[in-house]
Amino acid sequence: MPLKALIFDVDGTLAETEELHRRAFNETFAAFDVNHDWPDQERSWQWDEETYARLLKTTGGKERITQYLSEDAVIDPAPWKSRITELHRAKTTRFGELLGNGELELRPGIAELIEHARRLRLRVAVATTTSRPNVEALSRACFAQDADEVFDVIAAGDEVAAKKPAPDVYQLALKRLELAPTDCLAIEDSLNGLNAAQSAGLFCVVSPSAYTRTEDHSAADLLLPEFERVDLDDVQKMMRKKHSRFSGKVTAKHT
Ligand SMILES: [Mg+2]
Repeated sequence: MPLKALIFDVDGTLAETEELHRRAFNETFAAFDVNHDWPDQERSWQWDEETYARLLKTTGGKERITQYLSEDAVIDPAPWKSRITELHRAKTTRFGELLGNGELELRPGIAELIEHARRLRLRVAVATTTSRPNVEALSRACFAQDADEVFDVIAAGDEVAAKKPAPDVYQLALKRLELAPTDCLAIEDSLNGLNAAQSAGLFCVVSPSAYTRTEDHSAADLLLPEFERVDLDDVQKMMRKKHSRFSGKVTAKHT
């Protein structure tokens, strides 16, 4: 069997987490009175859906705050590094509390996909730009289990130098799984995630989430409206085809 592991993205893939993240950011900004820190900032530190959709192109929470702060060169973020770290830590705590209230469910098909993978004795991993405490909070809220009971390997955004669309977090997951990219299937909801997975040499299934529906996912190896439609037998056939074609190309180059 060529397929040995499934590697899941977290936000937007396992669950529609982004609205909860947005709420956690906004409640943190209000609690820390950031308008007082950055009074020159004319824009509101309460991100609406449109603003958040734009900011989601920047991966990572700290990076997202920095991006908003420095947009249009309004404020130089360099002297504010520790304040941004403090805000992000508080936001992560708040996100965990909101998750703990049981307001989030897995996306349709995800629980079944993980169960099916277990029956086939495949390993199950996570490669995410979010931080590890967020993965732990989501696992407890949505699976009623600790993250390392649900996943064999967790590679999180705070462990790599470059976040998605860079391949680093997928490469870290592969290293911990001790598997080649051709043995694994990446499961994503966004263009940044798709680019990261494919740059790491993985076959990638994409099912867009609420915040990524307007992106162009035509480069996906398999694009589906919902994860309920993932058929692992079909996926394995497609993976075999893709990777044999790829290795054929490499051989051709050398002859
Ligand atoms: Mg995602």
